Amino acid sequence: MQSRRNEESEFAPPSEPTLRIIMRRLRDIMAEPGDGQSRLDKIVRHVAGVMVAEVCSIYLKRQDGSLELFATEGLNQDAVHKTRLKRGEGLVGRCAEMKEPVNEADAPSHPAFSYRPETGEELYHSLLAVPILRSGELLGVLVIQNRTSREYSDEDVEVLQAMAMIVAEHLISGAVAGSSAAIELSKTLSHVIVGEPISEGIALGHAHLHEPRIVVTKLMADDPVAEMHRLTTALLGLRTSLDEMLRQEQLSGVGEHREVLEAFRMFAHDKGWERRLREAVESGLTAEAAIERVQNSTRARMLRQNDSYWRERQRDLDDLSDRLQRILAGQNSGLLGHAEMPHDMILIARNMGPAELLDYDRTRLRGVIVEDGSGTSHVAIVAKALGIAAVGQATGTVERVSAGDAVIVDAESGEVHLRPSAEVINAYSDKVRFRARRRQRYDALRDTPAVTKDGQKVSLHINAGLVVDMPHLHEAGADGVGLFRTELQFMLSHTFPRLTRQVQTYRQVLAEADGKPVVFRALDIGGDKVLPYLKQPQEENPALGWRAIRMSLDRPALFRTQIRAFLIAAAGRDLRFMVPMVTVAAEMDAVRRLVDKEMEILDSRRLELPRSIAIGAMFEVPSLLFELDSLMRRVDFLSVGSNDLSQFLFAADRTNPLVSKRFDPLSAPMLRALRSIVKAAERRRVPLTLCGELAGNPLTAMALIGIGFRSISMAPASIGPVKSMILSLDAGRVTALIEYLLKKPNPSIRAEFERFAEADSIEI
Ligand code: PEP
Ligand code: MG
Repeated sequence: MQSRRNEESEFAPPSEPTLRIIMRRLRDIMAEPGDGQSRLDKIVRHVAGVMVAEVCSIYLKRQDGSLELFATEGLNQDAVHKTRLKRGEGLVGRCAEMKEPVNEADAPSHPAFSYRPETGEELYHSLLAVPILRSGELLGVLVIQNRTSREYSDEDVEVLQAMAMIVAEHLISGAVAGSSAAIELSKTLSHVIVGEPISEGIALGHAHLHEPRIVVTKLMADDPVAEMHRLTTALLGLRTSLDEMLRQEQLSGVGEHREVLEAFRMFAHDKGWERRLREAVESGLTAEAAIERVQNSTRARMLRQNDSYWRERQRDLDDLSDRLQRILAGQNSGLLGHAEMPHDMILIARNMGPAELLDYDRTRLRGVIVEDGSGTSHVAIVAKALGIAAVGQATGTVERVSAGDAVIVDAESGEVHLRPSAEVINAYSDKVRFRARRRQRYDALRDTPAVTKDGQKVSLHINAGLVVDMPHLHEAGADGVGLFRTELQFMLSHTFPRLTRQVQTYRQVLAEADGKPVVFRALDIGGDKVLPYLKQPQEENPALGWRAIRMSLDRPALFRTQIRAFLIAAAGRDLRFMVPMVTVAAEMDAVRRLVDKEMEILDSRRLELPRSIAIGAMFEVPSLLFELDSLMRRVDFLSVGSNDLSQFLFAADRTNPLVSKRFDPLSAPMLRALRSIVKAAERRRVPLTLCGELAGNPLTAMALIGIGFRSISMAPASIGPVKSMILSLDAGRVTALIEYLLKKPNPSIRAEFERFAEADSIEI
């Protein structure tokens, strides 16, 4: 390898004038207009050219000491801002650690080489990395790579080091300051963070960082009696403000968010918490220090419990403690809607308790980003109830954003766009307008029955799990609730929901359904769905373990309470419930025996029974494919849980991203399995539906209709798109296509369906 300027001999020292020209060019690039990123992109291009290198990359140091790929010429552009090397990782990390050049003729065979498939760097053998230093402090690493395997000359090392010095100058003088160059620079660039949607919608607005915690500086009390008085007054203020907040009109509707917030309010009244706070003040601490001590010791205990339930409880406690600190500091404990907050606020937090969201003025709040919130977190439930677009698991947002930055929250894809370019903003504005128009179109279809062009009626149902989901049934114009996941109430509650609580919930669900059919699913707990208040054994393979009906039959008291709640709640109405994870048909006999027993008990107490009872099985385990007739004899209806059925059919864990998308359910094995279920149900005239993810996507729903399904259940938001598809579909033609494809040796079914949909102008 030799640099262009050194045409005579690769060992000759760099000629001073040529070097000066190169450096001047580099400085010119840095003075050119454009943002930090475009300048870095130009620098790598220029350095690659000068050094005759196929690859030139700049890695910058982040606050945590890791190195992030900030710009590259030659490696995959997709890896920029994605590839991160841990401190000391790989040859680049080694260069940063030693603050010395690393010059390797055959980098991939070096033991320290760290292979990152996303970069595509396996093609390049020689590697030269030099540290980007400023006053001895590491800012990043400048790297060149070539395909040929050879060591770079001393002169190359020298030139690259000189270039690294100029890059350092730029980093310090320009957008960059201090040692955490990457972070500072990143605060000026457009950036996309991919998290997970935890509610629905798209929001465009400006960043507001959720208030950082108050730092307690005074630990010991001067006057313990006065301190106790401050604590008592603050506790009173806290409880009153919470009562007021929860009376807000937007939250008055029934729904699971109420349970979350009620539990939160009860936590504020918790005697144990108050006692611990008082004891801490009695020990001589200020009220502020007492709150912090109790918070820390509880956190230590809760974090030892490694599950989401306790994490949520911890967040509740943090929320209460922060609130109490603010009251003690004399800060506003009411609505936060001050003038300095943007009118189109995107609220950003590492994590958040449920009530913290309610502190903000709803009229300004457009979106929420929580770095470690999941779909079942309490803040997500409240965001959904308020109809605010929210994304969780958006790691790195807080460190990359400044107050007032433009931000887009896409709670469809889970993407967060920080400081988006004008084109991205335009695209999203279009998307929001398009969504609004599409909504209007779907709303217009609300009362149109889902009938195919050749006259096949398809019943569309919604999947639900919380009372708050029920209004969607009518809004979407669905025919009923095809799957009500009862375990969600159990997972959100902090004690086992008693009979009366269960009855109340199921009654509410039936009342809100207003005569439309509802299929309750009996508890699907155990395995990975852990209830913290229920002792469960540790399992090697929870998805295949002691869960759902297996647990229910072994612990009949629990299951019988639920059956009793179903029977009482549905008094005088039609009761439909189904059993998850049925593996052998005979399990349904055991379920029926329990139902009969409960009916006898209620009857002997002269309680009104349901007008009709239909007991169904979920078809989720492939063993049932081999006793179809026996199963059909034992059930009143069947519902295919396609998520679990494909997980077990392909032996691919649906929660493991390495394999969950590896096998396409829209393929011959799954379609054949579904076809045999449809045929058996038709033979025995057993009502059949499907309630897994396959039903909610227009293309896969089209396949289901072709296979013969006439009833499917999906997320409420999917009803409109699936109905549009059905209205433009000729079911007979899809059936013929499937029969044809399943006779072919290796059909690429998804591609064929896509072609078919396009040719037939089907809305997918
Ligand atoms: C399924 O398995 O397809 C299903 C609907 O149930 P869940 O996703 O709750 O397991
Ligand atoms: Mg399932």
